[in-house]
Amino acid sequence: MTRPVLASLDLQALQHNLAVVRQTAPEARVWSVVKANAYGHGLQRVWRALAGTDGFALLNLEEAIILREEGWKGPILMLEGFFHPEDLAACDRYRLTICVHSNWQLKALQDARLSAPLDVYLKVNSGMNRLGFMPERVTSVWRQLRAMTNVGEMTLMSHFAHAGEPEGIAAAMSRVARAAEGLECRRSLANSAATLWHPEAHSDWVRPGIILYGASPSGLWQDIATTGLKPVMTLSSAIIGVQSLGAGERVGYGGRFTATGEQRIGIVAAGYADGYPRHAGSGTPVLVDGVRSVTVGTVSMDMLAVDLTPCPQAGIGAPVELWGQEIKIDDVAAAAGTIGYELMCALAPRVPVVTV
Ligand SMILES: *Cc1c(COP(=O)(O)O)cnc(C)c1O
Repeated sequence: MTRPVLASLDLQALQHNLAVVRQTAPEARVWSVVKANAYGHGLQRVWRALAGTDGFALLNLEEAIILREEGWKGPILMLEGFFHPEDLAACDRYRLTICVHSNWQLKALQDARLSAPLDVYLKVNSGMNRLGFMPERVTSVWRQLRAMTNVGEMTLMSHFAHAGEPEGIAAAMSRVARAAEGLECRRSLANSAATLWHPEAHSDWVRPGIILYGASPSGLWQDIATTGLKPVMTLSSAIIGVQSLGAGERVGYGGRFTATGEQRIGIVAAGYADGYPRHAGSGTPVLVDGVRSVTVGTVSMDMLAVDLTPCPQAGIGAPVELWGQEIKIDDVAAAAGTIGYELMCALAPRVPVVTV
């Protein structure tokens, strides 16, 4: 007896989404972002489907080492650089491209004993105020790095705070331009949102993450509806119980849903301990036996309830898609006040995963 919850990953969709990125940014090379265990999909399961990429970007040494041990010979970009001076030995050994964003890293890089120079991404703070040097410091840091024998190829890197929002990237782009004044440099600026919506930021290397997995960088599925991007992950389960309610009867913890008339509901084997968001209230879209319906009541640890009114034929064993091809992860996320990224990354280890 296997509990029916299952995540299936469509590796062709992943390949297809990389092709969409290439069409969208034909002049740029592509860092496929596979941090956070490939956005919850499992780095080891999915990286080969993306092996047509120019490089992989991530941020854990452990994940970089997995890629090398599994045979990836191309570039690997450490998006947050190295966390301790001692990490440089592994960056050297595994030939990783490192991001440099803080003063202490300059000294560490200067002092390291490397077998060969490391390629460096110099990070500019273009207004997000997370990581990076202020634009006015970049020329001097660039020269400092350029003078180090430990430094190989250099690229200017930045990250946008508003690429998926109306505010856009104009202000950030002008900070990058100021930082790059007088430097002949390759640039890498664009996350998924800028890859899709700001061709002026494509430059030399784009760094898409979420669109490879087929969800929207803005959080709204409609925003990517015409791009041809395909969802990679389908989270599914099945109905394991049916209840017939009368008017006034309630469902689940706290009785947060009350039937207004006679109503059949199905109990689905999936809950927040599987990664389905507890904050998704009654009315979150769900596909039951191939028919669109909605959830009712509070999501429990191991179960949730769905309305069977639109699908009277559905009974025990009926298949349920929680997100995937039909039910967009962005729509489920929106119902829970979050974004598709968080749901993907939160897929629980207890959910079996298959690749198709
Ligand atoms: C996560 C990340 C990306 C990818 O972001 P998406 O919105 O998933 O495309 C790109 N660059 C950096 C520095 C990141 O941390």
